[in-house]
Amino acid sequence: MQPDKTRSKIVCTIGPASRSREVLTGMIEAGMDVARLNLSHDDHSSAKETFETIRSIDDTLAIMFDLQGPKIRIGDMKAPAELQAGQKFIISTEDFIGDQTRVSISYKELPQDVKPGDTIAINDGIIRLVVKKVRAPEVTTEVVHGGTISSKKGVNVPDIKLSCSIPTDKDLKDLDLAAKLEPDFIALSFVTDPSEVKHVKEIITSNGPSSAWVISKIEHRLAIEKYEEILNESDGVMIARGDLGIEVPIEDVPVLQRDLIRKANMWAKPVIVATHMLESMTHEALPTRAEVSDVAHAIFDRADAVMLSGETAMGIDPVGVVDMMNRIVTKAEKRITQVNPGDMTSPRKAIVEIIGNLVYNAVALIPQNIEGIITATRTGYTARWISKFRPPADIFAVTYDPAVVRKLRLLWGVHPVQYHQDVNNVDDIIRESVRTVHGMGLIGSDKDILFTSGIRYIPGRTNLMGVFHVRDFIEDESKPQA
Ligand code: PGA
Ligand code: MN
Repeated sequence: MQPDKTRSKIVCTIGPASRSREVLTGMIEAGMDVARLNLSHDDHSSAKETFETIRSIDDTLAIMFDLQGPKIRIGDMKAPAELQAGQKFIISTEDFIGDQTRVSISYKELPQDVKPGDTIAINDGIIRLVVKKVRAPEVTTEVVHGGTISSKKGVNVPDIKLSCSIPTDKDLKDLDLAAKLEPDFIALSFVTDPSEVKHVKEIITSNGPSSAWVISKIEHRLAIEKYEEILNESDGVMIARGDLGIEVPIEDVPVLQRDLIRKANMWAKPVIVATHMLESMTHEALPTRAEVSDVAHAIFDRADAVMLSGETAMGIDPVGVVDMMNRIVTKAEKRITQVNPGDMTSPRKAIVEIIGNLVYNAVALIPQNIEGIITATRTGYTARWISKFRPPADIFAVTYDPAVVRKLRLLWGVHPVQYHQDVNNVDDIIRESVRTVHGMGLIGSDKDILFTSGIRYIPGRTNLMGVFHVRDFIEDESKPQA
C-alpha cells in the first residue's frame, strides 16, 4: 500500500466493533497506522485471529500488544449496585459474589499494602473510598464519592507502591503469545520502575528473532518520578491519561502531557497520547469541540501519535472516528509549536542528532528546493533523530526489513518505504533509495533531496548527510549499462 501522507500517526484499539476484515480495511484506508490489541480483554485465540486478519490485509501496518500489567479489578457482582456517600463498604480478598455492602478483589495483597486514610478508587475514579480499618482478608472503607459499581470494574490505589510488579503471570503468558506472533510493539501497563522495562526487554530479546519495541505506559505517580530512567530503557512511551488521571490530580494531566512529550522528543523516543480523545464518538456521530481541540493540541504539543480506545473497540462507527481523527491531525500538524532546534538538542549531542538538526535547518531555509528527506535506516534509529526536529518536509525512511517498515509507522513525519534489494556500499544505498522512493511516485525528479545514513550502514552510526538531485539518479537508470 502507498504510505499515507499524514505526518501524525494514529493508533486504534481493536475490539468487538472492529475485528472484521471489512471494518479493519476501512480503518486502514481512513488512516490507521497501528492496531492495538488489548490483552486485558482479548483472549489468546481472538488476539491471534485478529492479528492474522490484520497481517493478511496489510502487512505494513504495525500491531501493538498491550499487556494488562498489575491492573486491579473487583470481582463479580450479583447486579450493579449504587454506593451512597457516607456508607460503609467492605473489600475482601476472599472469593464471593459482591453486593451493595461488599465486593471481592483480584489483588490478594491489598490488606498488606493499604492503611487507614488511603484512597481506593473504582470505575475510572468515579467512586472514591477511604480506608477505615484493615483486618485481612477485609479492608473496611467509607464511601466518599458514590456511584454505580458493576462486575470487574477497574480499581486504582493512588499513592501506593503495590507489591506486584511487571511482568505479572498473565503478562508472561501474553509474552509467550507475542513470541509466536511477533507484534511490532509491546505496551506495558503501570510501569513504576525502569528495571521492569529492562526485564521485559530481556524476555523479548531472548524470544527473538524480531524484537518488538517496548512502549512504557505512563499512568502511575512513580512513573512520573522515574520518567527519565524509564524513557531511557523504553523504545517509546504512551501517556495513558485514563489511569493517570486517577493516580494524579486530573488537573495535572495536561501539564504533565506537555512535559512528558517534550522529554520524549528530546531523546527521540516516539510518544503516544491516549484515552478519551474522541470519547463521545463511541455513541455519537460527531465529537465535541473540546475533543477536537484536545486531539489538535496533542499534535501541537509534538506527540508522534494519538490513540483511540473504546471509540474504535466498541463504538458505533470505528471507520468514521478514524476518519475524523485523520482530518483533525492533518489540519493541526501544519501548525505544530515551533521550537528552536538548538533548544531541542539533548545533553548527549550525538552526531546523529547534529545531523537531525542540520537537516531541519536545511529544509527550513530552502523548502522550495527540497522534494523530501530520504534516510536509509537498518533499525529506524536515524529516522527517529530526523523526525524529532519535525522538519517541514516528508521523511522517507528506506529499509530492507519489513518489521522495521512497520515500526516506523509510529514516528511522526516518517513514511517507511521498503527496498527490495539489500545493498551495502554508500553509492548503491543512495541510488537505490532515491530510485525506490521516486519509483513509488512519492517524489518528483526536478528538485533535490536531503539524504542521511550511516556510511557503513551500521545501526547507530549515522554520519552522512548529502544533497542530491533526483534526476541524476533517474537519468542514470535509463542509460545503457556498461
Ligand atoms: P488502558 O490504558 O486503556 O489499558 O487502561 C490507557 C489509559 O489508562 O489511559
Ligand atoms: Mn491504563
